[in-house]
Amino acid sequence: MTASNERTVIRGGLVVTAAEEIHADVLIEGERVAALAAHGSAAARAWQAEHEIDATDCYVVPGGVDAHTHMELPFGGTSASDTFETGTRAAAFGGTTTIVDFAVQGVGHSLREGLDAWHAKAEGKCAIDYAFHMIMSDVTQDVLKEMDVLVEEGVTSFKLFMAYPGVFYSDDGRILRAMQRSAANGGLIMMHAENGIAIDVLVEQALAAGHTDPRYHGEVRRELLEAEATHRAIQLARVAGAPLYVVHVSAEQAVNELAQARDLGLNVFGETCPQYLFLSTDNLAEPDFEGAKYVCSTPLRPKEHQAALWRALRTNDLSVVSTDHCPFCFVGQKELGRGDFSKIPNGLPGVENRMDLLHQAVLDGHLSRRRWIELACATPARMFGLYPRKGTIAPGADADIVVFDPHDRYTMSAATHHMNVDYSAYEGRQVTGRARTVLSRGTTVVDRGRYLGRAGHGAYLPRSTSQYLI
Ligand SMILES: [Zn+2]
Repeated sequence: MTASNERTVIRGGLVVTAAEEIHADVLIEGERVAALAAHGSAAARAWQAEHEIDATDCYVVPGGVDAHTHMELPFGGTSASDTFETGTRAAAFGGTTTIVDFAVQGVGHSLREGLDAWHAKAEGKCAIDYAFHMIMSDVTQDVLKEMDVLVEEGVTSFKLFMAYPGVFYSDDGRILRAMQRSAANGGLIMMHAENGIAIDVLVEQALAAGHTDPRYHGEVRRELLEAEATHRAIQLARVAGAPLYVVHVSAEQAVNELAQARDLGLNVFGETCPQYLFLSTDNLAEPDFEGAKYVCSTPLRPKEHQAALWRALRTNDLSVVSTDHCPFCFVGQKELGRGDFSKIPNGLPGVENRMDLLHQAVLDGHLSRRRWIELACATPARMFGLYPRKGTIAPGADADIVVFDPHDRYTMSAATHHMNVDYSAYEGRQVTGRARTVLSRGTTVVDRGRYLGRAGHGAYLPRSTSQYLI
């Protein structure tokens, strides 16, 4: 625990940010980074501190910013199994020190009611800092006006769904109105881009044909219906003159739509998630209903799509890797869909795994180290108005810092992870590199596998508007 004015020095590590890699020591005063100085320099040697952290042979990286999580989300007659307490603790173990979760507007209710409900769930519970996007389920005139107020307050992004008719779904008219409003008030529209109306027809037909296994979840949610919705969302955003951020992109054809829009110089951005980079329809097809563990939307795609996703992460046609962390236990939750894949709660656990999986991608040659930090820390912070407080290591930034051991080899498993879910989507996967010491605003919350934080340390973060627009 670090008292308000205590100093900590992290010595001997390689500081990696999105911008540079430097052999530097880092001085923390209280909750913020005070200075960086070269190893052994007179300045660094002169620093006196109550706490010293030896980062020799380690990277010193900004804490991860996961811009897409769903703690305690009610869905499909059940609720995501991580609370804000367990989910943010697991995030900290994985080197993520900020989450942006989604407050949900209920149909017939105001945005305010939804936001208040999510504040109540999170307040006093979080191990790390947190912010909220707002899911809009019912776009009325009053709700459009409310958007302006939320932007002023620091809830500056709004998620709409072209999927899930009867639940979160908005039709094109509602989407256009929300986009027009965000064009005027500076908000960023986030889109779940799948043609839910068409998908529901295919679901009905699949079930009627006796196709009830989890793998049919992937088959009915066709790639073309992701691409079509992505295309339509982009055109609606152009008509409205609004920026657009497409969440959890999984199909190569959808990536192509984003790439075309970006080639036109539009403020159109895409996010993908580790599950689309590391898992595939092969997992959905696992026997004995095991495939249910991998049911999420957009769905996992055939392996061939992965190369397109990695390429887009290098070209910046995809700019962010978030998790869409939305865990449901296999026993009692995923099982709700035995005999009917459409009743399997949609979502995967992953908030603890993202930083390490992306580091593995560095070792595998998909990304550079700086790009790893850009995708996982800096760009999500900029995209959602948290930079440079979050997402980098620089004087004045919050001291959210991870001492990352790039040599620590381990096996991902539900037996050892900290997420409140009874399986790992990456069970048995060996990765090299792991967060060793994790600081949140100058306080060590995880060290060598031990949790030193506390529920309620994490603070709510009001956000500015997007800092990533062209
Ligand atoms: Zn989501």
